[in-house]
Amino acid sequence: MADWIHCNKCFIRYRPGVKFFVTTCGHLTCEGCTSKSDGNKCYVCISPCQYIILNNDLKPEMQLFFRSQSDIMEKFQQVFTFQEVNKSALLKNVTDKYLIVKSELMRCCKALQDSKKENAKLKAVLKNLTGQNFTPMLNGSSHPFSSPSQTMTSNNYLNAVSSRRGTPFIYPPNQRSNISWNSKNTPHMTAHQQSIKICT
Ligand SMILES: [Zn+2]
Ligand SMILES: [Zn+2]
Repeated sequence: MADWIHCNKCFIRYRPGVKFFVTTCGHLTCEGCTSKSDGNKCYVCISPCQYIILNNDLKPEMQLFFRSQSDIMEKFQQVFTFQEVNKSALLKNVTDKYLIVKSELMRCCKALQDSKKENAKLKAVLKNLTGQNFTPMLNGSSHPFSSPSQTMTSNNYLNAVSSRRGTPFIYPPNQRSNISWNSKNTPHMTAHQQSIKICT
């Protein structure tokens, strides 16, 4: 038994052969002082209490108060380490999931932006082909045609569309000389359609 245990009333130290009690109000009393109380009130502070004899049958939560501080600190360290290891593992798992979701979100945003740009380019091409006034759909977006002011021709359009699909458009040899949207001889196209300025 720890050497600091003493009766809080008469201050005798704990020693073998002398019974000691701990009260529910938190006081320690020796056998002699306890016998002088009525058993329902603390002999030290006179508050209602129960007396519990100090022996190995104490409940674990009561035994904790009589263990050495070094033992308690060691147990505390074990508890702390155990909890921190579990917290760290959980935090790492959540962080990994967050990074995966973030990466996927960034990929989707990039794909969305690319789709918007392509949509704007295709709309611009379509408007020019149909003779409508061109209005940029997306500020700063690059145009399928390299020059900021370039004559729209059938070849330009078809090459632009084909290049987006990964294959250059090539006219069959027997049609190259006959098909020219810029030609004055093209009967079904207006002058505006024959020479459309692409503005970016
Ligand atoms: Zn005493
Ligand atoms: Zn008391």
